Amino acid sequence: MTPAEITELRAQALRSIDGATRDLITAAKTVYSTPETGFNEHKTSAYVQERLQALGFVVETGIARTGMKAVLRGAQPGPTVAVIAELDSLQTPTHPGADPETGAAHACGHHAQIGALLGVATALSASELKDSLSGNVAFIITPAEEFIEIQDRLALKANGELEFLSGKQEMIRLGTFDDVDMAMMVHTSAGNGGSAFSVGGTSNAHVSHQVRYIGKSSHAGGAPDKGVNALQAAMLANTAINSMRETFRESDVVRVHGIISNGGSAVNAVPGEVLYEGRVRAKSVEAIEPIAERIIRCYRAGALAMGASVEVQTIAGYHALDQNPTMQKLFADNAELILGSDSVVIVEKHHTQGGSTDMGDLSTIMPVIHPYANAASGVGHGHDYLIEDYDRAVIAPAKIMTATVLELLGNDAQLARETLSKHKPAMSAEQYVTLQRERFSTQTYDPS
Ligand SMILES: [Zn+2]
Ligand SMILES: [Zn+2]
Repeated sequence: MTPAEITELRAQALRSIDGATRDLITAAKTVYSTPETGFNEHKTSAYVQERLQALGFVVETGIARTGMKAVLRGAQPGPTVAVIAELDSLQTPTHPGADPETGAAHACGHHAQIGALLGVATALSASELKDSLSGNVAFIITPAEEFIEIQDRLALKANGELEFLSGKQEMIRLGTFDDVDMAMMVHTSAGNGGSAFSVGGTSNAHVSHQVRYIGKSSHAGGAPDKGVNALQAAMLANTAINSMRETFRESDVVRVHGIISNGGSAVNAVPGEVLYEGRVRAKSVEAIEPIAERIIRCYRAGALAMGASVEVQTIAGYHALDQNPTMQKLFADNAELILGSDSVVIVEKHHTQGGSTDMGDLSTIMPVIHPYANAASGVGHGHDYLIEDYDRAVIAPAKIMTATVLELLGNDAQLARETLSKHKPAMSAEQYVTLQRERFSTQTYDPS
């Protein structure tokens, strides 16, 4: 294909997305109004399935419960590029978009990703565009990016319905990405100055702890001396963790935080059992290890002081995000071409804001990008995180991802092949699955 032909195809794709603007934004808003947390996105999943089928796709459903995949095949064989969208919401009951019954709310803007993915699928479905591709586009709709409701997910694991606790982790295990060579998605954000997009940067790795304190219940008024207070044990552990903070190195970007998800059952009884959920984040899985060891010592300290016992279940969390520079540059160039020269901020490769994503896990096995569309107000995961600019959140990402796919897979997929030949993945999918399995463990400590 000549550059002029690519320009014409891109123009056609942009016209098609422009023509679908209202419909794509409506799709995103429909998902917003049906927030569902990870692995429970049944209504959202059914809606996206219907929308993809209306475009003529055969949709594989029920992957990792609610995930889906639909493949668009180019005229010539070649690499497969995945365009990803995340299905799940958070639990933010005070958010204006919260489901009054469940408290679920799209306080991370994942609904915008669904609209953007449908935009790419709409544009590339046109036969001239499809025929220009040497390779395939896999639309992968992933459940459960937010690493929450751990106890519920552990129950699904115990039933054999899941092994890993996030959507992309589980889809890697199930082989959904086995025929995929590279992947992209766009997440919304609030910030990045005035520019529409930011590309680059990394994210933190993490690990999760389910910490169960077992004490002894007894009458809190009549027989406090007969009880062993599991809540006090957990609170002492939390104090120990806070004392530990001064040992963290800034270069490790450590974040340690937790919640008490069961603090006891009745105020008039000494709490006999308490569940603390902890999270340890740092710049890499390796950096987490020595910090997690110290945190586990803090959990034990609480048990030792009170004479309770503690069980610490370690759950494999996310890996740090490693973004591919070639794909990143293509995305940024297309963003500037479509939106203007001041539309992109480039973030330094190792800069992290402290959060985590399971795109990090995918980035250990293939080249990926995870740019941000600065389209929201408020604070991510907060009650006030709202998409203000749907053109930026849905339409612009659809256009830029489509243009990026056209460049990667057009012209005999030369750019995709070059990207792949230069890319050295940190591990294979098989090695990833083995490593994640090894990161799960359970230890108990009983000082009595
Ligand atoms: Zn989030
Ligand atoms: Zn998110």
